[in-house]
Amino acid sequence: MGYRLRDVIDGIDYGDLQKLKADLTNVGLYLRKFVDQKIAEHERKHERICAGCQTTIDPYSTTNYTLIFGPDDLKRRATFCALDCLKYFISSREAQKNQNRKAAQQTLPPDPERNDKDHFEFEDI
Ligand SMILES: [Zn+2]
Repeated sequence: MGYRLRDVIDGIDYGDLQKLKADLTNVGLYLRKFVDQKIAEHERKHERICAGCQTTIDPYSTTNYTLIFGPDDLKRRATFCALDCLKYFISSREAQKNQNRKAAQQTLPPDPERNDKDHFEFEDI
């Protein structure tokens, strides 16, 4: 687990704090470049471990898959060593979504305006 931003700032000496402040007042170009490099390092690290089975991924394997998901401002990426791990991940997400939907329906009062025929859902046949 990494350090929290507050802990990092607490650990910076006075001289570097002055440099950081000067950079931030100049649009923060150095800090932005440094943060971009660290984000790229983290993303490369996540691409080396399968999000499904936690095994090390062979970067030259033709059975690797990478899934990018989430809203535009919070994209997430998961890499899988094989199609089975990707399928398991998707089915787990679907099960979790269905469980959350059922929990929300149980806690909310019925909506008389809702017409279930207007919603598309996949059902088991
Ligand atoms: Zn895997």
